[in-house]
Amino acid sequence: MPDLFSLKDKVALITGASRGLGRNMAKTLAAQGALVVVNARKAADLQGTADEIRAAGGQAGIAAFDVTDEAAVKKAIAYIVEEHGKLDILVNNAGIMHRQLIVDTATEDWKRIIDTNLNASFVMAREAAKVMLKRKYGRIINLSSVMAILGRASVAAYVASKHGIVGLTKTLAAEIGPHVTVNAIAPGYIRTEINTVLQQNKDFTAMLEQRTAAHRWGEAADLDGMLVLLASDASAYITGQTMVVDGGLTTILA
Ligand code: NAD
Repeated sequence: MPDLFSLKDKVALITGASRGLGRNMAKTLAAQGALVVVNARKAADLQGTADEIRAAGGQAGIAAFDVTDEAAVKKAIAYIVEEHGKLDILVNNAGIMHRQLIVDTATEDWKRIIDTNLNASFVMAREAAKVMLKRKYGRIINLSSVMAILGRASVAAYVASKHGIVGLTKTLAAEIGPHVTVNAIAPGYIRTEINTVLQQNKDFTAMLEQRTAAHRWGEAADLDGMLVLLASDASAYITGQTMVVDGGLTTILA
């Protein structure tokens, strides 16, 4: 059984790994044995993640690029294959948020969110799929959100982008199986810098404590189990799914 969840000899690329969920997921994949290439826009921001992985005895590489820069994405994936021989696991984690009512939201702001959260995930997945299909092995994991199940005022582009991720995940799964699986993780509210505003809002925290069966905010480590499952051989027969990890937020009417 333990081997089922091992990532030994696997090469992983995770976007948005300088902080928050991405940083934790990079450490988790490395702890399971994967060589993890961490991405964010600036190399300096990634040194901390890479250092932590190496200090724990793991293997890490750095690939700094903007996920919305298609040429840079292609270059980075080619570099990873050249340097490490393959790419087994892609985690499309980089994501941004814009909080504003629709009537006040500029088109440019809407496009910026869709570009980073959805369009870049498409380009990343397409380029990774080409490499994975050649070797008949791959795991693509996209970060969606409970905002792919629920709507919420003031985050329209984010909600639309995360719904889009669910559709992209299903369609990729239909096209690039059977050896490459594609799934999404839809986290609930997990404490990171993306939701500092909500963490500071006592009413929101009280609502979350009451509405989740877990009675608390999520922590980055709460995603570890689902991440390792979807990244490993244990999920060979799971594809096209969006796995909700939300402490019960979307299933219980409190
Ligand atoms: P975060 O803001 O703490 O981290 C986002 C990361 O993405 C950072 O490393 C940032 O540098 C990187 N990034 C942003 N734009 C980029 C770009 N253009 N190119 C490369 N890297 C870029 O956010 P987080 O909470 O860690 O969120 C990670 C993912 O999880 C996002 O997709 C987010 O939508 C999703 N998510 C988070 C939560 C939550 O509660 N934290 C819930 C549901 C979904």
